[in-house]
Amino acid sequence: MTAIDFHKLAKIELHCHLDGSLSLSTIRHLAELAQIDLPEDDEELKQHVTAPVTCESLLEYLESFDYIRPLLQTNEALTIAAYDVAKQAALENVIYIEVRFAPELSMDKGLTVTETIDAVCQGLRQAQEEFGIIAKALVCGMRQSDQSLTARILDEANQVRDSDFVGFDFAGDELNYGPAAIKPIIEQVKSYNRPMTFHAGECGCPAFLAESIAMGIKRNGHATILAQEPELLDEFVKNGVTGELCLTSNLQTKAAVTVNDFPYLKMKAAGANITINTDNRTVSDTNLTKEYELYHKYFDSTVQDFYAHNKTAIEASFASDEEKEELLARLAKAYS
Ligand SMILES: [Zn+2]
Repeated sequence: MTAIDFHKLAKIELHCHLDGSLSLSTIRHLAELAQIDLPEDDEELKQHVTAPVTCESLLEYLESFDYIRPLLQTNEALTIAAYDVAKQAALENVIYIEVRFAPELSMDKGLTVTETIDAVCQGLRQAQEEFGIIAKALVCGMRQSDQSLTARILDEANQVRDSDFVGFDFAGDELNYGPAAIKPIIEQVKSYNRPMTFHAGECGCPAFLAESIAMGIKRNGHATILAQEPELLDEFVKNGVTGELCLTSNLQTKAAVTVNDFPYLKMKAAGANITINTDNRTVSDTNLTKEYELYHKYFDSTVQDFYAHNKTAIEASFASDEEKEELLARLAKAYS
């Protein structure tokens, strides 16, 4: 049996946060532009922007993002950042990526919601032109923020019509702000009739994932809790929900305390829709190639499994029908 070249495999990524995925060189570039001093030593810098291998909780993991926030406060910075993340993905043979970001976190110095989306889409387009990757933006509402602010941000985002801005998500503190707590803003986004995904099942609360499914949300970030909840897994499958799995991130945040607490094998056995993602390339010190290696190592995933998960990812993606067709053809060729 020949070894699998994980780098060379064509890949699709649906769950990748912009601010958690910047390369160190881009972080340095952005700090220079923002006139912010950083540690000169790369190892020291890495300690600030990468979460510990095991965190106390999701909240400790989220602290690494505070370091990046001041760097992403101009149009130029957002464009550079979006380009950087899509480029990193393209260079490891990701042919389609959805990069998500929260406009709210880039509005400290007066940028409008529309400006943040335009800037991110511009960076993604630069990478598309240069590397042939198809790269799309998702807008996140922050669940722990003031809900009237979030409502206003999401409404302004919904005014933006750009073929590279394709959907919505809610990110941040799931534990204290589950779906019921933010129901009005979820309903608001649903009323846009635009694609939507949702972080749920990352903090050990089965009820949150159950509520998300009951609200009719068809894509789910993490779904980690399914490892412990066979009945919920049945619901997940029955409703045709697609899981955006993030292994390294889950082990860090202790969403999965060990590999056995990760739902992949149970989801696979139940015929659930599975996709493989990084969550945060820098905060989790990973990339999609490393994630595939881990699935192969821990779960014996084969090339055929990766092909199936990538087909699932294209089908669940927020790309246009034409783009999906093109991507499925590219994928079939790459795996033939
Ligand atoms: Zn996430």
